[in-house]
Amino acid sequence: MRFCALAFLAFVAGCLTSGTKAEPPFQVYALKYAESEYPANLVNSRKAAGKVYMHWLAYLIKSRDGALTLVDCGFSDPALVKRFRLRNFKPIVEILHDLGIAPREVQRIVLTHTHFDHALDVDLFSAAGVYVHESEAVNPEEQSLAAKFAALSGQNRLHRVGHRIQVAEGLEAVHIGGHTRGSLIVRTTGLAKQLIFTGDECYFAAECVAGVALPSAAAFDRAKNQAFVRSLPADSTLLTGHEPHRSGGRWITAEIFLLD
Ligand SMILES: [Zn+2]
Repeated sequence: MRFCALAFLAFVAGCLTSGTKAEPPFQVYALKYAESEYPANLVNSRKAAGKVYMHWLAYLIKSRDGALTLVDCGFSDPALVKRFRLRNFKPIVEILHDLGIAPREVQRIVLTHTHFDHALDVDLFSAAGVYVHESEAVNPEEQSLAAKFAALSGQNRLHRVGHRIQVAEGLEAVHIGGHTRGSLIVRTTGLAKQLIFTGDECYFAAECVAGVALPSAAAFDRAKNQAFVRSLPADSTLLTGHEPHRSGGRWITAEIFLLD
């Protein structure tokens, strides 16, 4: 009888434990370093002409063990800020400073691709291992990155990604190759609701979910981008490189959005 009572209590305790919310494996911050108008014919938009409003973003992923991973790292060249008519510009390193994070504390950076706005400040992070697709490690879209990658390679900090690589526990980078030759996405593994950091394979999540792929002018291989857009799981969360619409979290400064 005593055994039965203990077994019953253990059963109840087990039910209670399994009903409690598990600690999330990551904290994810969207870092908005600028905003601007941009030609609609260069993004996955239903508008064929004119301009769309967008944000310029990188993401910070803080793992449970405290390790810090950046998905893209922005740029800080004033000439580019002017040329693209960016407003409210603040370099990623300054946004990280507001979170109490020094550049040398960032452990990894995954570059979704090597356009200036995603990759140019990569050399400011003196201790980070950098993941980039093997094709763009050799031949970056932004030519000035070639010397930076050579330096990283010399310090054994450059990880050349093939089809897929595990970046951290529960986090992998996967080659898509639609936006640029070596364009990567980063996605979570083992979570019921998958987070997908799309880089510029997708600019606007709602449009991607509705099947609006990149136009030819913004695609290296449009068929690969279309296949990616069509393959998106219905219940995933898309975190794009330029999404201006934010939900499922809260702004903790003008630039930092903490996802729930
Ligand atoms: Zn971009």
